[in-house]
Amino acid sequence: MEDCIFCKIIAGEIPADIVYRDDEVIAFRDINPVAPTHLLIISKKHIPSLAHLPDAETPLIGSMVKIANQLAREEGIFESGYRLAISCGKQGGQVVPHLHMHLIGGRQLADALG
Ligand code: 5GP
Ligand code: ZN
Repeated sequence: MEDCIFCKIIAGEIPADIVYRDDEVIAFRDINPVAPTHLLIISKKHIPSLAHLPDAETPLIGSMVKIANQLAREEGIFESGYRLAISCGKQGGQVVPHLHMHLIGGRQLADALG
């Protein structure tokens, strides 16, 4: 996808602080972190949102959770706690239309979502 900012990061056309990479997923630091740890775990394949995820590709989400847990350990927040979030669509607060999971932690997060 030519105009997708995350596809450009995957292609190396836009710099990012990449902390993980495999065949189907990469993770990098959010450019506008809301907490001491704020990573984005994204599919390498351009899937616009969770709502566009084909049923056959739901295991991808499990892989992303596994990687998020691993990264939480590396970030030193596995014991203190963290939040994984996937925004979907306009009212879901999604801004970048490329499937991504936020890993947020390193401070006390608000109880309420939304
Ligand atoms: P969304 O609101 O779509 O769930 O989250 C998009 C996230 O991508 C935001 O937290 C935003 O700060 C982050 N972001 C947007 N553009 C860039 C970029 O060019 N580089 C990085 N590292 N993060 C970005
Ligand atoms: Zn994309």
